[in-house]
Amino acid sequence: MKPILFLEPVFKEMVWGGSRLGSEFGYNIPGDDTGECWGISAHPNGDAKVLAEGFEGKTLSQVWQENPELFGNMEGDRFPLLVKIIDAKADLSIQVHPDDAYAKVNENGSFGKMECWYVIDCPEDARLVLGHNAKNQEEVKDMIKNGKWQEFLRYVPIRKGDFIQINPGTVHAITSGCLLLETQQNSDITYRVYDYDRLSNGKPRELHVERSIDVITAPAGDVDKMLISLQDLEKNVWHELINCQYYKVFKLDLDRENSFDQHYPFFNISVIEGEGTLNGTKIKKGDHFILPAGFGKVDLAGKLQLIASVAR
Ligand code: ZN
Repeated sequence: MKPILFLEPVFKEMVWGGSRLGSEFGYNIPGDDTGECWGISAHPNGDAKVLAEGFEGKTLSQVWQENPELFGNMEGDRFPLLVKIIDAKADLSIQVHPDDAYAKVNENGSFGKMECWYVIDCPEDARLVLGHNAKNQEEVKDMIKNGKWQEFLRYVPIRKGDFIQINPGTVHAITSGCLLLETQQNSDITYRVYDYDRLSNGKPRELHVERSIDVITAPAGDVDKMLISLQDLEKNVWHELINCQYYKVFKLDLDRENSFDQHYPFFNISVIEGEGTLNGTKIKKGDHFILPAGFGKVDLAGKLQLIASVAR
């Protein structure tokens, strides 16, 4: 029997963070400004501890190095993905991420960052920044340098249960009241374009205007290729939400049972609602774990909402 690799999340306090990761997910959060729960993470800025028997005290990055067979001997010097839950009490800055090629040259060999969000909860009238309205690179530069934010930023309405894919080069920002599950490349490179002229400890936070201008795609991609509505998905079957060059993400809304065969090099699962069992082991809201290579048959039962991912 292969182990279920349960993980101990790492929490990040942020100027825009809140307390819902404690009040709604039951985590022991470090403060009322907790913005991120890094649930499945092997990043040096937050390397989750593996809780499975025989791996006590080891981090996910250590287990990736020492037990490659658990990950199907997948190529690569780093665990490739990072799964977070984000609680935005306030608006996040307007930002953009580089791709692998740009990050490799300009960020010490880091991965670039492609990411996607599942909207766990948001206000009735919520909208996100997703893309921009500049027609070309010149307009991007002009609008940013001259602070034409009203004109530049493209806002799109979202609903609870929506799914959003953010390619590198896409201007984006999470807004106040959103609770998201993010699946991304294992990278922590963010370029901040604009921070609403806010002060943090009396000073504005650092911006990365030149790098942002370097990497922003113009014109921006179509909204309907980035924003996918998942209302009224059939229950008790897995749905593939995205299949891009780095990851596949799936959702399961269970109210009875589901069985499947875990045939991927590894399979990440985050429980975002409810409780139930996996091959007889109790799982509940807030759990994050990995089903390793060769895990075989998975029997799920209970009332659960799961977001899962695999690396490509
Ligand atoms: Zn981002």
